[in-house]
Amino acid sequence: MKNTRIRSIVVYLIATFFFVGITYFVYSFINNSQTWALQPINRHLSGDKISGGKILDRNSVILAQTINGKRVYNDDENVRKALLHTVGDGSVLIPTSIQSRFSTELFGYNFVTGFGAPKVANLSKDIKLTLDSSLCATALKSMGDKKGTVIVCNYLTGEVICMISTPTYDVNNRPNLSNESDDKYEGVYINRALSSSFTPGSVFKIITCAAALDYVDDIDKKQFLCKGEEVLDGEHITCLEHHGKLGLEKAMAKSCNIAFADIAIDVGKEKMLKKAEEMGFNKQYTIDGINIAKSQYNVDYASNADLGWSGIGQYNNTVNPMHMMMILEAIANDGEYVKPYIVKSIGEDSLFPSEKHTELKTKRMLSSQTAKKISDIMRYTIKSRYGDSMFPNMQMCAKTGTAEVGEEKLPHGWMVGFSQDKNFPFAFVVITENSGYGIKTAGPIAADVMKKVYKDYK
Ligand SMILES: [Zn+2]
Repeated sequence: MKNTRIRSIVVYLIATFFFVGITYFVYSFINNSQTWALQPINRHLSGDKISGGKILDRNSVILAQTINGKRVYNDDENVRKALLHTVGDGSVLIPTSIQSRFSTELFGYNFVTGFGAPKVANLSKDIKLTLDSSLCATALKSMGDKKGTVIVCNYLTGEVICMISTPTYDVNNRPNLSNESDDKYEGVYINRALSSSFTPGSVFKIITCAAALDYVDDIDKKQFLCKGEEVLDGEHITCLEHHGKLGLEKAMAKSCNIAFADIAIDVGKEKMLKKAEEMGFNKQYTIDGINIAKSQYNVDYASNADLGWSGIGQYNNTVNPMHMMMILEAIANDGEYVKPYIVKSIGEDSLFPSEKHTELKTKRMLSSQTAKKISDIMRYTIKSRYGDSMFPNMQMCAKTGTAEVGEEKLPHGWMVGFSQDKNFPFAFVVITENSGYGIKTAGPIAADVMKKVYKDYK
């Protein structure tokens, strides 16, 4: 009798554990099944049972589709290379790509049938992007063999119409990338527009200029004195030229280091940080649900000279290119930015439902007066320094940057800008890594790309 009771208790216990285990498994299965199924170890993602949605550009050009169970990419090699980081290559190596980020929507996974849903159920959806593949191919051609990124965005709507990252490769003719030390393909899986942040150099003067306008008394009348060099507590701040006396507008156009170091020191650590943070530094942003690299500004331990250098974009500050785009949008758009986005629609849905309402909200970064003044100062930079012939008929406002990144490497070249004409509401960011002066390296690429934008969109 005693033996029977012990046996029953053991059986009950086993049954209870079994029940708890099964409940846990079913719970995890429902919650995590799509993540498990999309693991690279699962090799069932090809074959004729799989249907996959198309990825289309804004003009319905097919960038990727599934034919007889095989993923097939655009016919044009330049388009494939220009869109590699956006579309993805079918592996998990480019995690920010549409094929990785939206695999559930594209390949129609559900936990009842997995990827094996009958084709009539057609759970896979097409994804339409805001990007213009022909413009992306032009940007890639202009970029040549330089590393970096080009972004063009409509600042009234937030649509990203161009986004490329180099180095890149052709998904149909994949190079042997096992040799990690191959400099040609350094960081090839990174979409630099989203996942990198760079030393800004003089493009950071845009932020320092905003701080000057908001915090320096009588900034409109103030004159700075540049003797080509300044010594602060024994540390040197240098300028490329001996600019003499100049006000804020000219200091920006000539990109005078001494004037902007003086501004940062005059504004002080606390307010420089406040202005940088109001403009999105040290903040985590997402683009279509994808985390982008943070831009950083931290002067906690900065000496006076460090603070000066931070105002020139040469301390420890870094800027993510897509975040720089948001700053330009805010300046162009009376102080408010529209968050950039890449996914125009998924299936029948315009944008994807979970973020439908938050992605497109405008957010204030600057007062409208400050935005207008920076815009006019950046317009003066083009008119007085580079000439409108660089961007004909575009009413372009811009700033260049040449960011020193150590003595053994050439600096990063930057050019960023936007049109003041709201009937041509486009902004651009161009970065060329380790290439030299911004105006000489990023400048011609920006001019090429914006001329095509003007031809196709004005
Ligand atoms: Zn100077």
